[in-house]
Amino acid sequence: MILDAKIPKGPLAEKWSTHKFNLKLVNPANKRKYDVIVVGTGLAGGAAAASLAELGYNVKAFCFQDSPRRAHSIAAQGGINAAKNYRNDGDSVYRLFYDTIKGGDYRAREGNVYRLAEVSVNIIDQCVAQGVPFAREYGGLLDNRSFGGAQVSRTFYARGQTGQQLLLGAYSALNRQINAGKVKMYTRTEMLDVVIVDGKAQGIVTRNLETGKVETHSGHAVLLCTGGYGNVFYLSTNAMGCNVTAAWRAHKRGAFFSNPCYTQIHPTCIPVTGDHQSKLTLMSESLRNDGRVWAPKTVELAQKLRKGELKVTDLKEEDRDYFLERKYPSFGNLVPRDVASRNGKEMVDEGRGVGSTGVAVFLDFADAIKRLGEDAVRAKYGNLFDMYYQITDENPYKQPMRIYPAVHYTMGGLWVDYNLMTNVPGLYCLGEANFSDHGANRLGASALMQGLADGYFVIPYTLGDYLATIGPKPIDGKNPAFEKTKKEVEERIQKLLSLRGTKTVDEYHRELGHIMWEYCGMARTEEGLKKAKGLIQTLRADFWKNAIVLGENEELNQSLEKAGRVADFLELGELMVDDALMRKESCGGHFRVESQTPEGEALRDDEHFAFVSAWEYKGDNQPEELHKEELVFENVHLTQRSYK
Ligand SMILES: Cc1cc2nc3c(=O)[nH]c(=O)nc-3n(C[C@H](O)[C@H](O)[C@H](O)COP(=O)(O)OP(=O)(O)OC[C@H]3O[C@@H](n4cnc5c(N)ncnc54)[C@H](O)[C@@H]3O)c2cc1C
Repeated sequence: MILDAKIPKGPLAEKWSTHKFNLKLVNPANKRKYDVIVVGTGLAGGAAAASLAELGYNVKAFCFQDSPRRAHSIAAQGGINAAKNYRNDGDSVYRLFYDTIKGGDYRAREGNVYRLAEVSVNIIDQCVAQGVPFAREYGGLLDNRSFGGAQVSRTFYARGQTGQQLLLGAYSALNRQINAGKVKMYTRTEMLDVVIVDGKAQGIVTRNLETGKVETHSGHAVLLCTGGYGNVFYLSTNAMGCNVTAAWRAHKRGAFFSNPCYTQIHPTCIPVTGDHQSKLTLMSESLRNDGRVWAPKTVELAQKLRKGELKVTDLKEEDRDYFLERKYPSFGNLVPRDVASRNGKEMVDEGRGVGSTGVAVFLDFADAIKRLGEDAVRAKYGNLFDMYYQITDENPYKQPMRIYPAVHYTMGGLWVDYNLMTNVPGLYCLGEANFSDHGANRLGASALMQGLADGYFVIPYTLGDYLATIGPKPIDGKNPAFEKTKKEVEERIQKLLSLRGTKTVDEYHRELGHIMWEYCGMARTEEGLKKAKGLIQTLRADFWKNAIVLGENEELNQSLEKAGRVADFLELGELMVDDALMRKESCGGHFRVESQTPEGEALRDDEHFAFVSAWEYKGDNQPEELHKEELVFENVHLTQRSYK
C-alpha cells in the first residue's frame, strides 16, 4: 500500500500558502450544518474546538477530566518556540525548520516541519491577543530564552508555567464558544471507540465516568486530540491520566500507528527513589540555560559522594566533569534531549553517578547565582526550584540539583497526512497524539508549538476540504454501525469487570513499565527487544486471567477506567517493541546499541530506514503489517547530526 502524505508540490516556502488556496471551502451558511467531534481539550483539542466553533461548525468536545482546564498540557513548564527573531540573533522560519528537522534526526517530513515553523509566529500573536502573560523584558517586549538543539533564543515563556497560561488562553476561547452554544462540552466522558460507516469515521462511543452510561455520538468528522502515551512506561513525567486508549481503539478500527518506538527521554527529571513512586517530576529544560550539568571526574569521588564521605559543595572545580560542555563545545548544556540523556546515562553506567542510588548527575546553578544573583535566578525559575525543594528536601540555591533522564513525550502516534487526516477518511489526529512533526526526537518547547499550530492554524483550513467533499447531509446516528460498536464496547466493559483474580491492574502496569524501560528505553538491543516481546505477551495473557477489577459499571469506577487503559498499554507495548526491533538503525530517541558511531553517538542508516513506519492492525494477537512512507529530502542534506 502506498501511503500518500499529500504534501503539496512546489517550493518549500510556498507549499502551505498554495495548499490553503487549493483547499475546498465550506460557505459560511453551510458550516452550521456540520457536526464535528473533538476528543480531547488540551492545547491541541481546545484550540481546535474553539477555532472550528468560531468558524461556525457545531462542535461536540470531550475530555475525561472534570474540566478542560485539567488537561495534561497544563504541566508544560519551559516555553513555546516561535521564529519571531525578536532577539535579532539570526533566527528565521528556515532556521527553525532546519533545527527541527536536524533535531528529529532527519526522520520527519520537510513539508510539515516547514509549515510548523511558518505558523509558529502566528501562534504567539494569537496567544498574546488572548491575554497570555508571556514574560517580558524590562522595555516591555516579549522575552525569549534558549532551548536545546538551537543556537538562538526563540522560546517564549511564562515563568515555569507556560502550558498553564497557554491552556487558560485556549480554555477562555473554548468557553466563549460553549457560552455561544457552538460547543457542547462533555466532561468526565471517556471515548472508548470510533464508529466507522462505509469506511468513514462518523462517530464515537463514550462512557460517562460518573454514571457508567455508554452512549454514541455522531458527527461529520472525528478529531482525536488525546495526547501522548508515555505512561506505557508506568513511570513518566506525564499526568497520571495520560493514556493511549483513544488512539489505540482507533488503530484497531483501521488507523495506522506510526513510529511507536520513538519515545523522548528527558534528561533533567528528579531521579527515581524507589518502587513506591507512581509519577516522576520534570525539571524544565529551560534550567539548562543557566544550570551546568556535571558528574564527578572519577568513580572514587562519586563513591565518596554517595557514601556521604564528601559533600558536593566541597568537591573542587578540577574534580568536576562538565561532560556536555566538554564533549559538545558549540551547544554545551543545550544539546538536544536525546544527546543529553544518553550522556547522563553513560556517566551512571561508568560508575560516576551520584545520590544515594548512584543513578543521577548534577545540574548546578552556582555559577549563575554568582553571575546574576539569587534573586535573578529566582525570578526566572522560582517555581521549579520550589518544586525541587518540596520533593527532595534539598535547597537547589545552595547545592546542585540531582537529575536523571525519564520518559517524557512520545513522538510516535497515529499516522496523519499533511491535512492531519489519518488513513481513515474523516478521522483526524492532532497534537501529541499524532506522529507528525518531530521525527525521532522532539526539540524542547516544540510540542506546545505543534499542538497549537494543529489546533489554531492547520485544522481550521484542512477540515473544510473534507467536509466540502462529503457534503452537509446530516449523519445518520441510527445507522446499525453505531449500535454494533456500542455493544462491543459494553461487552469489553463487562469482560473487564468479570476479572476477579488476585493481582491489581497497577501491578501489571508497573511490570509492563519495568519491561519497557529495561528493554525499550534509553538503549535497545535486538536480544533485549526479543526478550521484551515474549515478556509482554506473557504479561498480557496473565492480565486477562489474574487481574482484579473491582466495582460496577454504573458508578465512578477508577479501577475499571484504569483496567481498560492498561489493557491497551499491554497491546501498544508489544507494537513499540516490534517497531524498535524492525528499526535496526539508531536515530534520535531510538538508540540501538548495535548501531553507534565510534564516539557512541546514534548512527542512522538512511539507505534502509529513511521512512515513517505505519503499522496496520490485523486482529487480536496477530502480527501487525508494516507500511512505509518514504521520507523525501529536497531541501536539507542528510548528515550525521553533530552538536560539537
Ligand atoms: C511535565 C511536562 C512539561 C512539559 N513542558 C513542555 C514545554 O515547556 N514546552 C513544550 O513545548 N512542551 C512541553 N511538554 C509537552 C507538552 O506539554 C505536551 O506534549 C502537550 O501539552 C500535549 O498537548 P495535547 O493537547 O496534545 O494533549 P493533552 O494536553 O494531554 O490533552 C489530552 C486531552 O485528551 C483528553 N483525552 C485523552 N484520552 C481521552 C479519551 N479516551 N476520551 C476523552 N478524552 C480523552 C484529555 O482529557 C485531555 O483533554 C511538557 C510535558 C510534560 C509532561
